[in-house]
Amino acid sequence: MIFKQLLDKESCTLTYLIADLSNKEAVLIDPVDTQLELYLDLLRDYQLTLKYSLETHVHADHITASGLLRQKLGAKTAVSSLCGAITADIQIQDGDSFKFGNNENIQVITTPGHTPGSISFLWRDRVFTGDSLLIDGCGRTDFQAGNTAQQYDSITQQLFTLPDETIVYPGHDYKGRWISNIIQERTSNSRLAGKTKKQFIEIMSNLNLAKPKLIEMAVPANRYCGIDEEQASQVAEND
Ligand code: FE
Repeated sequence: MIFKQLLDKESCTLTYLIADLSNKEAVLIDPVDTQLELYLDLLRDYQLTLKYSLETHVHADHITASGLLRQKLGAKTAVSSLCGAITADIQIQDGDSFKFGNNENIQVITTPGHTPGSISFLWRDRVFTGDSLLIDGCGRTDFQAGNTAQQYDSITQQLFTLPDETIVYPGHDYKGRWISNIIQERTSNSRLAGKTKKQFIEIMSNLNLAKPKLIEMAVPANRYCGIDEEQASQVAEND
């Protein structure tokens, strides 16, 4: 297997490449448009075929590379059916899974809260949590129809019930950290460990965060897999 965790320094986005060398099939999770050449180089170097480009949600802080990867490589783009991303090839539903490689399976865990369509992906002993669960934090819930109570339920009931040693790979980290695991987050995440839902809601409603710089551009673009709307409408008409 090949497994790579890649960082977009501009948005502090973490992207994941998983590939099975036995049949050269690969999957990317949360690719960023400005890193396209890096992905293409990696795929070329290892002679991989990109089967899926998966999104944990419609992002507000960067533009996805998924539409470009589809155009260039024919990879299938996939995002939750609740994200309003009408040009995605696959509208992910609860219970879906993605098969690739010889016998690899990526399971969908719906974790709404940061956005209604936020999902996590479980592969082997690793969970890719997008912006649902971050290292010592979690995604904000104050825009994109976020729901703080739902976020609490998703994290405590869906993610914290995974086996303790499950490795947590978040969608972002702003302090240069790369990985965590479920037991560490359950016992030490400062927003969640030992906190009631009421306490969590109190914490989340007092974050006073600035709006992401790219939100006005990124959210609409990401609904079209990161390709501009004019191109996207041509694609939609041709479909
Ligand atoms: Fe996000």
